[in-house]
Amino acid sequence: MQVEPRVTVWNEFHHERYRPESAAVYPHGIHVAIRDGLVAHGFADVRTATLDEPEHGLTQAVLDATDVLVWWGHVRHDDVADSVVERVKRRVWAGMGLVVLHSGHYSKIFRALTGTPSDVTIWNEDGERERIVVVSPGHPIAAGLGRFFEIEMEESYAEPMEVPNPTDLIFVSWFQGGEVFRSGCTYTRGRGRIFYFRPGHETFPTYFIPEVRRVIANGVRWAAPEASRV
Ligand code: ZN
Repeated sequence: MQVEPRVTVWNEFHHERYRPESAAVYPHGIHVAIRDGLVAHGFADVRTATLDEPEHGLTQAVLDATDVLVWWGHVRHDDVADSVVERVKRRVWAGMGLVVLHSGHYSKIFRALTGTPSDVTIWNEDGERERIVVVSPGHPIAAGLGRFFEIEMEESYAEPMEVPNPTDLIFVSWFQGGEVFRSGCTYTRGRGRIFYFRPGHETFPTYFIPEVRRVIANGVRWAAPEASRV
């Protein structure tokens, strides 16, 4: 029996409260923009959770009722309690999907699951043009996309990103400054599927872009455990 995946969008929710440039773009928080994108793509059961809630909003009960967790973090990775990281990790091992966005590459949970520093080499917040090239057009995460799509202004990341070689490399980004980056990578850990997707700096309206919303929706569907993969 197929059932709708239950999704939790987690955000540290820091820049949008303390940095005017971010608040201007995401007045309700990045998590709300991501949730709205998923709802627009037909997901009916999408909740949000943020760092400053008790247990970061990720109690065992919430995680047990989550099929796919979406993660956005940047400057407060170290404030995420190790006990919560452990709880999330065990849920992924048991089959919960995890979609890690942008600077979430450096989150405790992503590093714990990859077993690597997961660091990137250099980055530039100036807002370069980015072209995201689909290198695995047959993959479900690339469904509905053309050969590439572009983002007018984004933060550039540079290789090498210190992660294990992905199971599937879905996207490679080119930035106008000349860097390239593996912007869409999949992994499995235990029974859980993990998708890393790079765009989404907190001062750019990336999570309102139709193609970005489509990729996140595709990623959530792909990462959902089999019984809820609709
Ligand atoms: Zn950023």
